[in-house]
Amino acid sequence: MVQTMKLTLLTIVSLASQLAAATWPRRYIESEACVDSSQFNFDNCTTENIQCLCQSKNYLSTVALCIHKQVTGGAKNRDDAWDHFVATRCLINNNSLSDQMYDDAKEYLKTTNLVVIPEDKEAPVYKPIRVEDHSFHISLAAQVNYLRQKDISTIQGCILVGYWVLIIALTAVKRFLRYMVVRFSQTRVSMERPGKLYRLWQKHIAIPACFGFSHMCKVRVWGISMSIPTRLESVACFVYLLLTIIFLCAPYPYMATDPLYPTHWKQMMRYMSDRTGIIAAIQMPLFTLFALRNNILIWVSGWPYATFNTYHRALARVCYALLIIHAVAKHVFSQSYGASLVEYFYPVPYYRWGVAAMGLMAIMIISAFFRESHYEIFLRLHIAAAVCAYACSIKHLDGLGYKQTIYVSLGLIAGDWVIRVSRILFINVSLFLPPVLGSTRYSFAQASLLEGEVVNLKIRTPVHWKFRPGQYVFVHINKWRVWEGHPFSIVGQSSDGESFQIFCRSRGGHTRGLLHKLAREGCTKNNQMTVSVLVEGPYGVHCPLERYDEVLLIAGGIGITSIIPYVEHLVEHRPDARIVFVWVAQFRDNLRWVDDRLQKLIRASNVDMHLYVIRERGSFEEQLESIAQANDIPMVDIDINEAATHLPESNKEPTLDPTKLDTQVDQMSVTSQSTSKVEETLFGSQSVITLQDSTSVVSPTATAKCEPTMATVAPLAYPHYRHYIQYGVRPDMEIIVRDFFNSSCGSAAVIDCGPPSLMDTVRRAICRHLETAKHGRVDYYEEGFSW
Ligand SMILES: Cc1cc2nc3c(=O)[nH]c(=O)nc-3n(C[C@H](O)[C@H](O)[C@H](O)COP(=O)(O)OP(=O)(O)OC[C@H]3O[C@@H](n4cnc5c(N)ncnc54)[C@H](O)[C@@H]3O)c2cc1C
Repeated sequence: MVQTMKLTLLTIVSLASQLAAATWPRRYIESEACVDSSQFNFDNCTTENIQCLCQSKNYLSTVALCIHKQVTGGAKNRDDAWDHFVATRCLINNNSLSDQMYDDAKEYLKTTNLVVIPEDKEAPVYKPIRVEDHSFHISLAAQVNYLRQKDISTIQGCILVGYWVLIIALTAVKRFLRYMVVRFSQTRVSMERPGKLYRLWQKHIAIPACFGFSHMCKVRVWGISMSIPTRLESVACFVYLLLTIIFLCAPYPYMATDPLYPTHWKQMMRYMSDRTGIIAAIQMPLFTLFALRNNILIWVSGWPYATFNTYHRALARVCYALLIIHAVAKHVFSQSYGASLVEYFYPVPYYRWGVAAMGLMAIMIISAFFRESHYEIFLRLHIAAAVCAYACSIKHLDGLGYKQTIYVSLGLIAGDWVIRVSRILFINVSLFLPPVLGSTRYSFAQASLLEGEVVNLKIRTPVHWKFRPGQYVFVHINKWRVWEGHPFSIVGQSSDGESFQIFCRSRGGHTRGLLHKLAREGCTKNNQMTVSVLVEGPYGVHCPLERYDEVLLIAGGIGITSIIPYVEHLVEHRPDARIVFVWVAQFRDNLRWVDDRLQKLIRASNVDMHLYVIRERGSFEEQLESIAQANDIPMVDIDINEAATHLPESNKEPTLDPTKLDTQVDQMSVTSQSTSKVEETLFGSQSVITLQDSTSVVSPTATAKCEPTMATVAPLAYPHYRHYIQYGVRPDMEIIVRDFFNSSCGSAAVIDCGPPSLMDTVRRAICRHLETAKHGRVDYYEEGFSW
């Protein structure tokens, strides 16, 4: 660990010094000192009017003479120093033109007399001046002081980058060591219960959201919908912010004899504007990398993309704030000379490029307003504005240095796109090698519509590729907004073994369009349609649940797509582990999405499965029809009376009329307070029922005879696992988590994926009941469907 820290620090320091040295070689400093000591009103041009001065032979030959005399290291260095001068002052980047100017200046010096430095610095000068050594050396000292400020800023910027690198490196080392222990230990290692301090850390820092427990549920601030980071993420961002503020306020050494910036105020404004600009420029590659899909740090650290996205936003906002300070300080600085920066600098291209870059970055930040409502527009605008802002920043930094950081940022974006396109081509196109059996040279999918709200895509690609639970792919539906790819969890191999399956639930945009289009073309569950698709991926981090002795997996609604692969994986790889699997589905027919998989799971002896169906839809006849379809039997064969005999105990007593379900559930009463608990719901106004003792919850209508309503016939739909289903109730996550921890005998993990409110409830329950797991380590993983 210490070695890693040392290595990281060494890398940062060496990077910092390289960046600083590469930006400001000695010959440039001497060139700058010559310019500074040649500040006179040549040929009636004021010292501010640099464009006029660049036309003045006397000014140019004064600088040329100084460079010739003072720049050390031979003719090559002198030429470079001159090129630096004309590039930064006269904005001429053409080498042959620059050489010509240098030669002309030297020729002119041969034919004209020199004058001494005038007493009155404002007086016009019509001859070249021989700059005195003393004057040059004061300017050189001022330059060195000024550049030292820049070097300090560079090091500060690198320390801030190093801060993130260090956190990620430590996480990576920890992850690697754990992996090695599991990989190479002969017997399986059960993760022991950590010390009190670590549990306190988990309870108060690592797991909760920054304020309370609202993490997945978004909050609206000034019309912007944003998610609150976890407390740990907030701490990481806060330390970063604190370091930035400390660096910003760190003293700016004052040089009393500075001929450039004679007052303390001027020096401070100048140095502050440089420091903020430099620190922001150095952060750019890092926060750009954080936003990319192919971010190597995801793989190294094991953090999900959502975490990097949180850090990307935090860093970008801090850097934008720095750039605002940079611009304001520059304006205040110029005003301290009585000049308006806009008037003075507007004609200078670098100023305009800087303004353009700031404007584009503002667009990127403002686009967060419609991130939620128009994600695709946000995404495209964000990327386009980023690339343009970086291009403008390069122009802005031309001749000033530090543009290497922007090149790196652009390189990272380009690299990400190259990898993305390569991955798409590799998986979806097989031009030269024969495609795998049963496939074509291009990917395609068999689409079917489930209950009019979910599209089941069985995707077949021409090459085989591996995926793990927790991974997802971006799917582009071909011929129809091909540029638009959406993330979907890989549910697993389809029953044919040749394709993999994803489920797309209809949301507001692309997914709804896809669903409507398929419905219009007559696609149903049984009438599958072939659509061309492009798959990009797989992405995402696999949570190492197989390392735990006991795992609680909670899915809500479509979140099953992410959870069920884990359950199957655990059944296969950890037959000795205790697996508690809870799925809360909205409607009974939702269970059909993964019917075949659920049937297999009940055969596994170590899976404790609890399925909840919250409500019913459609008329009674429609529901019967759907049951008949699900069971593949004629409707007339459904024996309603027989249904009652199939009911699990929990469903026998309550007779819930589907049309009045909500009201009835609300009216439920508790018959035995000691053994069960009905609470006002965490999910709204509905009542809740515990996992352990659901039988004691009854409705006021419980005494009524069994009528042929949905509650009685619904279990017929799933004859294989009807005993695992409870109708019309929502589970109390708090109690499920508590009971799971209470009964755990080893290390335990909880993972969930579902509606934000469900996930936040689970998070809260884990923090509250963490202590009750007495025998091993406890960890929490979440698979969110938003970032
Ligand atoms: C890792 C991950 C796995 C997912 N797995 C599944 C799954 O298995 N099944 C399923 O039905 N849904 C899944 N989703 C959600 C699914 O990606 C979105 O519902 C879908 O992209 C919405 O598209 P839309 O145009 O219809 O949505 P809109 O109504 O336009 O947007 C709804 C919300 O979806 C999110 N979103 C939209 N487009 C994107 C995008 N390109 N990338 C990321 N987020 C986006 C935004 O937060 C947006 O606010 C997953 C999401 C993520 C991040």
